Amino acid sequence: MTSTVPNAGMAGAHEPDWPAAHIETLAHLQAMLRMNTVNPPGNELLLAQHLETALKAAGIETQLYEPTPGRGAVVARLRGDGSRQPVLLMAHMDTVGVETEHWSVDPFGGVIRDGYVYGRGAIDDKGMLAVNLETMLLLKRHVIDAGGTLSRDVIFVANSDEEASGEWGMGWLLRHQPDLVRAEFALNEGGRIRVVNGRPLYVALQNTEKVPHVVTVTAHGPGGHASIPLAGNAVLRLGRALARISAYREPVQMNPTTREFFAELGRVWPHREERLAMGDVASGDTRRVQRGARVLERIPVFDAVLRNGVSATIVDGGMRSNVIPTEATATLNVRTLPGHSIDGVVRRLERCIADPLVSVAVTERGEDAPASDFGSALFVALRQSAQALDPALAVVPYMSTGATDSARLRAVGIQAIGVLPFPMNQDDEDRMHGNDERVPVASLEFGLRLVYGAIWRVAR
Ligand SMILES: [Zn+2]
Repeated sequence: MTSTVPNAGMAGAHEPDWPAAHIETLAHLQAMLRMNTVNPPGNELLLAQHLETALKAAGIETQLYEPTPGRGAVVARLRGDGSRQPVLLMAHMDTVGVETEHWSVDPFGGVIRDGYVYGRGAIDDKGMLAVNLETMLLLKRHVIDAGGTLSRDVIFVANSDEEASGEWGMGWLLRHQPDLVRAEFALNEGGRIRVVNGRPLYVALQNTEKVPHVVTVTAHGPGGHASIPLAGNAVLRLGRALARISAYREPVQMNPTTREFFAELGRVWPHREERLAMGDVASGDTRRVQRGARVLERIPVFDAVLRNGVSATIVDGGMRSNVIPTEATATLNVRTLPGHSIDGVVRRLERCIADPLVSVAVTERGEDAPASDFGSALFVALRQSAQALDPALAVVPYMSTGATDSARLRAVGIQAIGVLPFPMNQDDEDRMHGNDERVPVASLEFGLRLVYGAIWRVAR
C-alpha cells in the first residue's frame, strides 16, 4: 500500500532506507509491547529508559524525568536554526488494562502473526511511539548528520498517565517543564486512516475534539417501608426521567471542522445515499443539513459528530430490597461540541424531564479548547506526506468524539493535530482498548513514512 516511487517528494540524501527503517521500528515496537505499562499503576519508567538509551545512542539530546516514583517522561530534541518555532512529536507510554482470558496471544508478548503485531498498546499508543522514535533517529542520520539543517526544533515527548488523569504525564510536563514543550505545533494521537473495501480511503487529522462532562440526574421521593407502595417512589421517578432522556436528542450543529470533514469525505465515500447526505450536511443550507443528518445519524460514529452526545452510564439508588430510598441517581456522560455550553445541555435536559423533583447537575466539567487551524503548515505537511504515499487518499480535518492530551496543548496555544498513522479497517480500529489489539505490519511502514515525511516537510 506504500508508493513504489522511491522519492516521495524528498531530496535524495533525505530519503531513508525504508525497509531497514521498517525493521528497526518493528523491533522497537515489539520491545515496547513486552514492557507492561498498564495504567494503573503505569510503571512507564522502564520504557522511558529504553527510549532514552535509543535516543542517546544516536547522539540525540535527551532528558529523562521521573515525575513520581516509577513513572517517566522523556523529552528529546533535535535543534533547528531557530528561524521557526518548534514542533512536538508526542505519544504516551501507558496503556489500558487487559482481560487476558479473551486474548488469543500473550498481550505482552510482542507476537507477530498473520501480518499483524499483537499487543496491548499496538495502536494506542506504542505504535505511534515507535514511529516517533524512528522519525527522530532518521532525522538525525539523514538530515543533521548529513550536514543538513532544520528550520525548527523537533521535540520528541513520551509521557505517562494519558489513560488516567494525565496528572503524571502531559499535565506534569506543562506544569513543571513548560519551556521544554513550548512549540508552535504538536503531532499527537487522535486521528484515523480508514481502510474501506481493502484500500485506504481517507486520512482523518484530528484538529479539535468534543469536551467530556459528567452530569448527575437525581430523583427525589418519599422513603418508607416497601410493603406500602408510594406514588412518588424515587426509583420509578428516575425511570420516567431516563425514558424521556432516551427519546431526546440534542439538535444537529455543524462547525467548520465537521463541515469540511463531510464535504471532503463525500467526495470519496462509496455508499451513494450517505455520500449525498454528506454533501447535504456540509451545504450550510438548514433544510439540507436536517435532511442529510437524518441519513447520517443512523451511523453512530457520524451521529456523534453531528450533535452534543448524551450517554447514560451508571444508575444507582437504594440499599435494601424492602426499603424505598429517598433518592435515586443516574450518571450521564455528556460530550459537548467545542464552543457549546454544558449548562445549555443541562437546561434542555431539565425541560425534557419536566419534573421538579428530578434535579440535573454538572458534577465534572470538561475544558474547552480552540480548534487547531486546518490550513496550518503542519496540516498541509501531513496532507502532502499522505498524498505522496497514495495520491488517491482524501485528507480531512476531524473532530474526535474522544478526548486526548491535545486539548491541554490547544489551551496553551499549541496547534495540535492528531493522527493514528496506520491504515486500518474498522475491525482493527475497534480493538483499541479491546481484545487482541494489533497493528498491520505493512501499516507500520506507511505510518513511519507518513510521520517522517510530515515532520521533515514542516521542519526543513
Ligand atoms: Zn491513547
